[in-house]
Amino acid sequence: MSIVRILLQFPEGLKQKALEHAKALEKKGDEVFISASPTFGACDLAIDEAKNLGADKLIHFGHAEFHHVDFDVEYIEYRIDAPLTLLEPSLQHISNYKRIGLVTTIQHVHQLDGIKEFYEKNGKDVFIGKPYGFAKAKGQILGCDIGSAASIDKDVDVHIYFGGGLFHPLGALLSTTKPFLAIEPFDNKIEFIDRMRETYRKRRNGKILASLDAKNFGILLSTKNGQHNMQLAKLLKSKIEAQGFNAEILIANTFDFESINNMMEFDVFVNTACPRISIDDTDRLRKPLLSTNEIMDVLRMKSELQKLNNVSGKSSAIHGWDESEPQNKKV
Ligand code: SF4
Repeated sequence: MSIVRILLQFPEGLKQKALEHAKALEKKGDEVFISASPTFGACDLAIDEAKNLGADKLIHFGHAEFHHVDFDVEYIEYRIDAPLTLLEPSLQHISNYKRIGLVTTIQHVHQLDGIKEFYEKNGKDVFIGKPYGFAKAKGQILGCDIGSAASIDKDVDVHIYFGGGLFHPLGALLSTTKPFLAIEPFDNKIEFIDRMRETYRKRRNGKILASLDAKNFGILLSTKNGQHNMQLAKLLKSKIEAQGFNAEILIANTFDFESINNMMEFDVFVNTACPRISIDDTDRLRKPLLSTNEIMDVLRMKSELQKLNNVSGKSSAIHGWDESEPQNKKV
């Protein structure tokens, strides 16, 4: 029997299990390597490492398939049975709501039916939505696929997230409008997280305002299999240049924010990679880091300002902007 060369890849939370899995495969006669690179999801497969090694196969732990890739990848999902002891006390928090929406991460999707049954026995109508496509199971959310929550927002009085940490529910929270309860079974915490909507709305407005006098734009393009979007990066570059500004595409696998901070000629960075980068990592850059929607808002506002200044006949440092009149910056 020929030896199979395998590369194993683990997300950060499962790297502690790497040796155990490697040993088990080696006992079967496989030749095993372990990727030591950081990984953030199934959007971030170590295919280049596997090809460089001449590996026959990549085994990716902890995530479901994100999209089809041209390499032999085996996905080993991790299911975790979280304690359900917080369901009973959560009833007090939702006593005023009848229709509830449930979401969770891939680790706990197998528990959703039991959680649904619990709330139904306690007189609630329970809705479990469908993801948009990157996530695979009903009720599952990813940082970049909040369809399971957004698709039922109109039907429910309150959303409930069941799972660890607030990374996953944050995206769902920002894409919905109803009260949002997070149940974190491992931290023994139940809390409404709606206030975060306002914090992120203000942060978004701040980034947009800070970008209005920008001339030079750096567009971040990731080489990760599930985050690479060359078409979008090129489209944004052409749109920015069409308005008379400079834009360049900046490529990396994982973006190092210290390195990007050294690119001081750029006034603004635009994210085409994982959509969460422009939500979660903005504080790590000295310059504004915009999402695709945000850059389109900025370009539209810059164009309107230009028209206004043309009508009023004022000169401007950047296409109609008069820096001697800062009050004009209030858009
Ligand atoms: S949120 Fe970002 S890191 Fe997570 S799966 Fe989506 S693209 Fe990948």
